Amino acid sequence: MNRAVSILLMAATFLYSGCASHEKNPEKVYQYSTIQALLDSKLTGTLTYRELKQRGDHGIGTFNFVDGEMIMVDRVAYRAHYDGTLYEVSDETLTPFAIVDHFVADKVLEVTKELNCEELKEMILRELTYKNQIYSLKIIGNFSIVNARSVKKPDKDGEGLKYVVENQNKFDFENIEGTAAGFWFPEAFTSVNVPGFHFHFVSKDRKNGGHMLNCKIKSGKILIDSNSEIEIDLTN
Ligand SMILES: [Zn+2]
Repeated sequence: MNRAVSILLMAATFLYSGCASHEKNPEKVYQYSTIQALLDSKLTGTLTYRELKQRGDHGIGTFNFVDGEMIMVDRVAYRAHYDGTLYEVSDETLTPFAIVDHFVADKVLEVTKELNCEELKEMILRELTYKNQIYSLKIIGNFSIVNARSVKKPDKDGEGLKYVVENQNKFDFENIEGTAAGFWFPEAFTSVNVPGFHFHFVSKDRKNGGHMLNCKIKSGKILIDSNSEIEIDLTN
């Protein structure tokens, strides 16, 4: 190998390792902070959505002071406001807690008959082969109903997550097409993230959304992406 080629190769190796933290690894999820930190009322963070979107194109989370529910679909991040209306998030917006991944479906299931949320979750659960892994999930479908909620920044300073959840606003979307983006976490991750299923919903027209509490789906498809690695950023 001549010297010019070897220098180029070295440069390429250096560049690659230099951006190793943002590599598009479909087996890895990236999480900023932990659910325990949020429960302990660490409601602000310093990670921007610009930075978050470099680490994944699919995810859920929130905003500083838990001012709304976040849903990321196809690298576009949305904020579901307190009344269930949806707006695109600016790159400068900060998050105290979010989880994203580069979504590549390993498995696709078809929903061919009406299922309630519990039946839907059972159908997914049967396909989660390794129960110690983290699964990224996307349900694209036609829903008879989606029961959802959103939250807003506390009115008073110093109020924690308990206050935010007690003051949540619940709403229903009937006969609506959309996407539920979310994750399934093993029980062992209880302090890291919400164990079991956690979905945030966006309507197909991207006008409405929220944290999904319950649902009934008429038809659609379920995309499952298994993840064997997690990176947890504890810098906030
Ligand atoms: Zn949520």
